[in-house]
Amino acid sequence: MNYSETKTDVILIGAGIMSATLGTLLKELVPEWDITVFEKLANAGEESSNEWNNAGTGHAALCELNYTVEKPGGSIDISKAININEQFQVSMQFWSYLVNSNLLRNPQDFIKQLPHMSLVEGEQNVSFLKKRFKALSNNPLFQGMEYSDDHDKLIDWIPLIMEGRTLKEPIAATKVDSGTDVNFGALTRMLFDHLESKNVEINYNHSVNDISRTSDGLWELKVQNQFSGKIERHTAKFVFIGGGGGSLHLLQKSGVPEGKHIGGFPVSGLFMVCNNPEVVSQHHAKVYGKAKVGAPPMSVPHLDTRFIDNKKSLLFGPFAGFTPKFLKMGSMLDLVTSVKPNNVLTMMAAGAKELSLTKYLIQQVMLTKEQRMEELREFIPTAKAEDWDLVVAGQRVQVIKDTEAGGKGTLQFGTEVITAADGSIAALLGASPGASTAVHVMLEVIKRSFPQHLKEWEAKIKEMIPSYGISLMENQELLHEVHTSTAVTLGLSEKEPVFS
Ligand SMILES: Cc1cc2nc3c(=O)[nH]c(=O)nc-3n(C[C@H](O)[C@H](O)[C@H](O)COP(=O)(O)OP(=O)(O)OC[C@H]3O[C@@H](n4cnc5c(N)ncnc54)[C@H](O)[C@@H]3O)c2cc1C
Repeated sequence: MNYSETKTDVILIGAGIMSATLGTLLKELVPEWDITVFEKLANAGEESSNEWNNAGTGHAALCELNYTVEKPGGSIDISKAININEQFQVSMQFWSYLVNSNLLRNPQDFIKQLPHMSLVEGEQNVSFLKKRFKALSNNPLFQGMEYSDDHDKLIDWIPLIMEGRTLKEPIAATKVDSGTDVNFGALTRMLFDHLESKNVEINYNHSVNDISRTSDGLWELKVQNQFSGKIERHTAKFVFIGGGGGSLHLLQKSGVPEGKHIGGFPVSGLFMVCNNPEVVSQHHAKVYGKAKVGAPPMSVPHLDTRFIDNKKSLLFGPFAGFTPKFLKMGSMLDLVTSVKPNNVLTMMAAGAKELSLTKYLIQQVMLTKEQRMEELREFIPTAKAEDWDLVVAGQRVQVIKDTEAGGKGTLQFGTEVITAADGSIAALLGASPGASTAVHVMLEVIKRSFPQHLKEWEAKIKEMIPSYGISLMENQELLHEVHTSTAVTLGLSEKEPVFS
């Protein structure tokens, strides 16, 4: 067997949006550090970050009803919505910095303004939406949110959804014009092009098979060069496991205690895509509804205008699917091989607890096209089956771990940064809110892995992200400045089309 050996400062595993973001941040903070990337596929952004594999929502809690919870007394808890909105503002500022510094060009290739709406039917849901609107629209982060239960107004906002609708029940919507559609695939590829221009070594078709600690405290990766079939060895002082669904296996291989007692459960996503341009042209928004009782939060149905391959598209979903693979292009053995002696009890406890999720997934997998069309017709009553095709999106691997609040084997729906005690290796697990909050999450990795450099880097971080360490909600002047400048830099001021 032939070995090729290199030593570098930083290794990023995986060429998705997370590694792209961390690499770009580090190149700005310490340009002299050598960074090497290993990606098992032939290009960047081919798994969850690809534009066809996620919904492209710039999650800012403008429309996602599951981010605001009705408390037992009837009041609305908006703390999660505030958190996610603040995190999205961090991404917007970093992307603006990159555009202003000419490190990214043509922001319209990855981000477009698009109204974000929530839509509900039925008295109880309308009352919830009204209360949610009151709670959010009083908050500076959600300024500009409109509410309406007036049919004429709704016809004006969402003609395709209102056409042919029998209005037996009250219906209402909220709308924020400053929402976004983000092409995370395009952004990932643009960031990797930029990194390549900064001499970052990007090795495609290289699969990381093993990670171990060397006697001098470095991390050694066993990497298979898929062109030659040869195994190479590469060492680094710091490793980021940004393998998406592949991260859990790699974290387990590293042997760090922080990676023990954690399991993963794969849930795949499917969308219906409209093939009739006439229908596509009648809608211009992301419209999120309410999740069905028993459905997990990532299954909230939404009807989305998307901008993919410079074309306006219309997608509905997601429907959930099940395969034991942890990556779309993963192995059928992924789930089984992720079960280890240290997480088997956690996994079994989750299996016993999550019977309703299992039942939900079985139901989803068994859906026929006509049953999927029925769900779509709750949004577009006039939808015709011949106008819609099914596309398979990305895999999410939900984290299962033992928590104080939930006990053994609790299914998590957020993202989790796992860092070794000495910060020398970090992994990102989970998938939500995902790509939208990549900059916030990667700053968290930097904070945990490089605490000794934070003071020295703070001024540069503030130059890139003026709100770093500051709550925008509590600093309205800065919030206004950030909203205005990011909208101008990223070209987010398009007027909505008028539907005829
Ligand atoms: C159906 C669906 C809808 C979503 N909708 C949204 C949305 O609307 N908005 C949003 O913000 N987020 C959304 N997300 C989440 C978002 O897509 C993910 O959080 C994000 O793309 C994850 O990026 P990543 O870089 O961690 O992983 P990925 O993009 O999956 O990249 C990981 C990379 O690592 C590589 N890799 C894995 N193992 C190895 C190995 N051993 N060696 C070398 N390379 C390896 C993979 O090939 C892959 O290229 C959605 C996700 C799904 C599945």
